[in-house]
Amino acid sequence: MITVQMIFDFLQQKAPLSAAEPWDNPGLLAGDGSKPVRRVVTALDVTPDVIRQAAADGAELIVAHHPVIFAPLHTLPADHPVYLLAQHSLAALCWHTNLDVAAGGVADTLAAAFGLTGITAADGYTRIGTLPRAMTPLELAGTVNRTLHTRVRGCCGTGPVRTLAVFGGALDENSLPHLLQADAIVFGECKHHVRLLLARSGKTAWEAGHFATEHAVSSVLAGWLREAFPQLHVTVAEERAPFFTPDDPA
Ligand SMILES: [Zn+2]
Repeated sequence: MITVQMIFDFLQQKAPLSAAEPWDNPGLLAGDGSKPVRRVVTALDVTPDVIRQAAADGAELIVAHHPVIFAPLHTLPADHPVYLLAQHSLAALCWHTNLDVAAGGVADTLAAAFGLTGITAADGYTRIGTLPRAMTPLELAGTVNRTLHTRVRGCCGTGPVRTLAVFGGALDENSLPHLLQADAIVFGECKHHVRLLLARSGKTAWEAGHFATEHAVSSVLAGWLREAFPQLHVTVAEERAPFFTPDDPA
């Protein structure tokens, strides 16, 4: 019998909670560690839709990247994901910044998506490597769109792009000095003042969207669980980015 706690302990080996940021809130955020688990759904976010999928699938557990509880809850309305989890007797394990930085986690998955080689990591969230071939800034934009199924926006530097820095999720200025060592940067999202800094840097920088740069980690989590617990039934939730581009034919 596999329990929620056994899956917790396994994930603790892959991406220890001790590596999470002090402000973060990863871990077993809902449910009972002693509960038996036969079916698991992995996801980027514990949304009401993902909970509906897990409940329809007969799952006992959702393993997700973003914490379903982050800020203190002052009320628990009936449409809140935590309320819905309890209604469906679903546990939720959320592996956040500790999964960003882990070997094979969010940052490594993003670097692998672009086939980067010679990868270095100055901080846990950043990976810099060499692209399989040099390309123009606009070719890189097309590559990012196809690879991450997104529509980038950003700024173009001059000259070909050989080295690429990747950063999943929300970028702040603290990581810029390291990222700017590469010819180009691909990241999830950033605030206006960081856009100004990037535009001024003379480098190519493509903002690909938070969802697009992190979504693949739900498949990574599923792969880890299937390998460690072959008897578990593991499903990757069907998720879409919360925003869409209106002229996108998809
Ligand atoms: Zn994120």
